[in-house]
Amino acid sequence: MNLVTVQDRFSNSEVDSRPENNGLEPCPICGQSGAQEWLHGPDRLHGRQENYTLLRCSGCSLVWLTKPPKPSETHLHYTDAYHKLISAGGENSPERWRARKATLTQYKETGVLLDLGCSSGSFLEFMRSDSWKLYGIEISADGARAAEAKSGAVIFAGSIADAPFARDSFDVITCFDVLEHLYEPLQVMTRVEEWLKPGGVFYVLVPNIDSAEGRVFGSYWHGLELPRHLFHYSPASLKFLAESVGLREVSLETRRNAAVGTSLRYVWDDVFRTVGIHQTPVAYRGEASIPWRAARKLVRMTVLRALLATAPLVGGGESIHAIFRKEKASA
Ligand SMILES: [Zn+2]
Repeated sequence: MNLVTVQDRFSNSEVDSRPENNGLEPCPICGQSGAQEWLHGPDRLHGRQENYTLLRCSGCSLVWLTKPPKPSETHLHYTDAYHKLISAGGENSPERWRARKATLTQYKETGVLLDLGCSSGSFLEFMRSDSWKLYGIEISADGARAAEAKSGAVIFAGSIADAPFARDSFDVITCFDVLEHLYEPLQVMTRVEEWLKPGGVFYVLVPNIDSAEGRVFGSYWHGLELPRHLFHYSPASLKFLAESVGLREVSLETRRNAAVGTSLRYVWDDVFRTVGIHQTPVAYRGEASIPWRAARKLVRMTVLRALLATAPLVGGGESIHAIFRKEKASA
């Protein structure tokens, strides 16, 4: 049990106060050596004990999971319970897709759109209209079939690295809650740059490791999703990554989201565990009960509001929404 972490992170959130590691692992994005240990934590979603370590680059501020699970072990961490939670979240959130469409159409109102990691195709389905020709990439063959049936889009079933699209194919590429799961972000970003038409835009959304919630909750923050999230971006490191392949920032903002209840559950579960009460891990729980939802709302309105008011608010909300553009070739 390590509730101290929450306290530590709250009162001691300066990057420079992290203990040094051996500095042998260079930053996978900018190459700088001397990364520092950022935090340790388990897979709280599944209630597992294995402890993971995150490192933070002192150059570009990227945070990454050191010793990530091997790709051959993926199925151990992406359980059926996890997939169920994710697709339920996507299918029950028209408001989420509406907001993203509104953001996107400020920059492009029509054209050819590719959604990276499109899951069961909820966003593509939402975008279905005469204005868009839709494509997706989905690693799971079942997911790809479901997405195709639901959205009418052309879905490539496989990895981004293996997708056969030609250079300059897309007006828009979207990537929502996916980049942080991928082993080779630089390679993915390079493909995005290749596939975009000159003037095309990339709309990417990732959790914000420098968010107020991330700092307050530390290893209890639900956005860590250890060990499924391999990279944890700040606005600065995301921008650095995109610019390193030649994309240019058009808009980058952070937004709050309402998932703070999950972080609170992780804290509560640990509190109960110290007195010998083992709760069912979040991945295997049903819908939150009414008393729990009421308690959560109360905490959100009172304790959490006070905590967040005094937390370092640099970086702000929990999600980073960024739009990058591929420049038109200069003559
Ligand atoms: Zn770096």
